[in-house]
Order: sequence, then C-alpha cells, then structure tokens
Amino acid sequence: MKIRLLKASVSPNESGSIFVLAIAACCSNTSASHTVSPQGHAMFAELELYGHEQVVFCSDPDVGLRAIIAIHDTTLGPALGGTRMWNYASDAEAITDVLRLSRGMTYKAAVAGLNLGGGKAVIIGDPHTQKSEMLFRSYGRFVETLRGRYITAEDVGTTVRDMEWIRMETRYVTGVAGEQGSGDPSPYTALGVFVGIKAAAQIVFGSDSLAGKRIAVQGAGNVARNLVSRLVEDGARVTVTDIFEEKAREICREYGAEYVPPEAIYAVECDIFSPNALGAVLNDTTIPQLRCSVVAGGANNQLADEERHARMLAERGILYAPDYVINAGGLINVTSEIEHWSREQVTRKVESIYDTLLRIFRTAEREGILTIEASNRIAEERIAHVRHIHRTYVGSPSIRNG
Ligand code: NAD
Repeated sequence: MKIRLLKASVSPNESGSIFVLAIAACCSNTSASHTVSPQGHAMFAELELYGHEQVVFCSDPDVGLRAIIAIHDTTLGPALGGTRMWNYASDAEAITDVLRLSRGMTYKAAVAGLNLGGGKAVIIGDPHTQKSEMLFRSYGRFVETLRGRYITAEDVGTTVRDMEWIRMETRYVTGVAGEQGSGDPSPYTALGVFVGIKAAAQIVFGSDSLAGKRIAVQGAGNVARNLVSRLVEDGARVTVTDIFEEKAREICREYGAEYVPPEAIYAVECDIFSPNALGAVLNDTTIPQLRCSVVAGGANNQLADEERHARMLAERGILYAPDYVINAGGLINVTSEIEHWSREQVTRKVESIYDTLLRIFRTAEREGILTIEASNRIAEERIAHVRHIHRTYVGSPSIRNG
C-alpha cells in the first residue's frame, strides 16, 4: 500500500494553540506484513498494516485536549464511530486502540449493510475528573474541520451531555438527546444480540427457541439488562455476573436469574456463553474453561487474538458469533439519525442480524473456514464492490458528459 502525506498543516485558533496533523493514505486493498516500513517509519507501517486512510491528532493545551481521530475507510460513506475517553498509559496505547477500533467500525458497518465507513476517536484523559464543556467544544471544532468525513457518537467514557457540548461546534455528531437524537442504543444492541443468539441456536440445536436453554451472561450493564429480559421471556435459564455484585444480583432478582461471581462465569455449564462486559475475554486462560456450545454476546473485541482464539473456539466445537456482526444494533440505531429511519425500520434492520449470522455460519461450515473469516470476507467483498462501482461511475463518459 502506498501512503503519501496529503496534509500536514497548522491551523491556529485565536490563542494559536490548536494544530491539526492529517496523515492521509491512498486507497488500497493490500495490507503490509511488517511493523516498520523499509524506510523505518513505524507509524506509517502501522497505518499500512491496518489500511487506514487518515489519522488526525488534536491538541489544545488551554483546555487539556489531547485527542486522536482515526478514519479507517470511507468507501461506503462517512466514517461513523464513537469517541472514547480513557486514561491511556501512553500515547502509543491510545494510537493502537483508536486504529484497532476504527477498523472494527468499517467491518461492522459493511456487514450490517450500512452506507457508512469506519472511524473512531479517543480523548486521552480521565473521564471522571478531566471533562469540561470547553474540552468537548474544542474537540467538536476538530471534528468540524473534517467536514463530515468523520461523524462521532458516544462510547466508553462519554455521555449524551458530552455529545451535546460537541454539537455546539459541529453537526457531525450523533447520539444527542431529544428529537434530534436516536436515544440510548443499548436496547437495539440487545435486540441484535438476542436474535443473533437465536440464529446460533438454530444452527447448533436445530431450533431457535431458547426455552430451557442455559445461558451464562457476563456483565450486568445496559446491554445485558435488556438482553436478559428477552432471554427469560423466551424461556431461557439465565446465569448473570458482574464485577459489581449488586448490579448482577438486581437483575437476578428482577428476572429470576442465578448469580455467580465474575471469575466463575467461564466454567458455568451452559448452552450459550454471552459476553456483554469487556473485550479480550476470549483468551488462552478463559477458552479452556468454557463448557458451552455457542459464544454469542454484545461486547466489542471479544477475541484477544482474532485468528488464534477464533480457531481455539472452533477446535473445541464452539460456534462463535462474530462480535461486530451480532452487536451492530446500536450502530444501526445511530444511523437512523443520518438516514431518517422510523423506529419500525430500525427494528427490522436490527432483526436482520439473524439472517446475516445464519449466512455467516453456513458459509463458514460450507467452506471450512472460521466464522470470523466468513464475516470479514463479506465486509471486504462489499467494500471492494462499492469501490469498483464508484470507479465505474466516476470514469463513465455518459455520466461525465451529462
Ligand atoms: P455498561 O458499561 O453498561 O456495562 C458493562 C458492565 O460490565 C458493567 O456493569 C461492568 O461492571 C461489567 N464488567 C466489567 N468488567 C467485568 C468483568 N470482568 N466481569 C464481569 N462484569 C464486568 O456497557 P454496555 O453499554 O452494556 O456495553 C457492554 C459491552 O457491549 C461493551 O463491551 C460495549 O463496548 C459493547 N457494546 C455496547 C453497545 C451499546 O449499545 N451499549 C453497542 C455495541 C457494543
């Protein structure tokens, strides 16, 4: 992949303290297999490795802003993805996170059939102590400089209030409250996870009814609460955990579920394990403990190592529902703000995650590949096809000549 520096500009605000560094890459399908380019440019090698188009570093020391916006791929449309605020141990950790997360958004939107690209942003700082109106307004001005190439939303560490501050400076923000916004995405994420679990049950147990099925749910947050409600309604026997025991116990009381301590959840004998807390929970330590036939949950980046741990699950006969496919309900809901979909349209699109997953599971089985490989392939093919028709369109003499 060839990368060229398209823009490296300083655009000072009144106090002269804001600058934008934009690194843009020309489009290519290929990915590099090295971590340092032949010329020794480690940063550019990382962009090559993941295939990013543009990374913007945002600095405004007057308000304590240090943020990075990563635009992975805009072939399908503007890059939409949340802004995460996190106390990263180093700049390198923040860069790695934003690159990985933004790439995931490209795949999530592509498989969900959305006309959106993949992007994500991180603000480096403690979300409990370092938030202010001016920090988010300053950040909003950076989002505005991208003129819609990147559209932001809430993520870990940011809230509706923060989005409203950002909106004071840019219209390229979703997830605000009131009539302009699409509201809390969690119920839609949970709906997608629910239908995704049913699709997996159809493949593994020959029926998508969850009546009598034992399901272990990790996490008792917004997604998990909405999910447990649906699972119990469908007749499942549910076990719940959370690092905040009372949160899990509250759900257990409300829905008649069973509580286990956090470290015990992996070894619960069940039909389906549903991770709805943190990422990287499927790893060398946890996978050998699993006693289930299906892993299907809403958490992002569940596999510590995508290829290796997906393979470990498959070797144990466990069907894995790719996380970015099954948890796309929240993104579909946010997209309704841009596409002006009705609630019914959103629900229908989220429910189509059932068919998408069936297709992925069947493709994986037919071709002897991992389910994550099957879903990656769907995403990459859709992007390649859209890139192709866009090229055809631009080059068409009949179009050019009106
Ligand atoms: P949340 O913060 O409301 O809930 C997460 C819960 O997980 C918290 O209660 C937390 O205490 C618990 N937790 C953290 N570490 C844990 C551990 N080791 N063991 C057990 N519990 C633990 O978050 P949420 O909105 O419910 O999202 C859950 C997951 O789904 C996250 O990974 C998120 O990135 C992903 N996701 C959420 C949405 C959405 O619409 N909210 C959309 C897509 C993906």
